[in-house]
Amino acid sequence: MGCERRLAILNSALVEYAKEHDGRFPSADQLESILKALEPYFSQDRIRYSVLVAVCPLGGAYERHPKRYEWDTSFSGVSMRDIDPDQFFQEKVPFSCPYHEQMGSRATFTLTEQIFNARYSKDPNKTDAGDGL
Ligand SMILES: [Zn+2]
Repeated sequence: MGCERRLAILNSALVEYAKEHDGRFPSADQLESILKALEPYFSQDRIRYSVLVAVCPLGGAYERHPKRYEWDTSFSGVSMRDIDPDQFFQEKVPFSCPYHEQMGSRATFTLTEQIFNARYSKDPNKTDAGDGL
């Protein structure tokens, strides 16, 4: 399983978590705690242990103590509605790889789509009146 795929799994788990928590990401001040919060949301058939998705396969292959993925704590507890999807093109992403500079934003397809929907799509439960636009 490649680096991009692992990051995509982490991002998908973020989305699944948010769907069940009013659109918010978990509050987590370090990688350990975000992995713990996301563990129930990893696809069961693909990944059983969060430790597997926490390390780039490249770093894991060449280093005795490979660096793990980086969790950007500015996404901690954030609502998907408040995230600007454009920032992913500037490498500001929830998870990034210390070995692959661009991989973090390449792996955000699912996440970007969900964030875009949360931000721009109309909420069917709300009327336009009083939206303040
Ligand atoms: Zn990598």
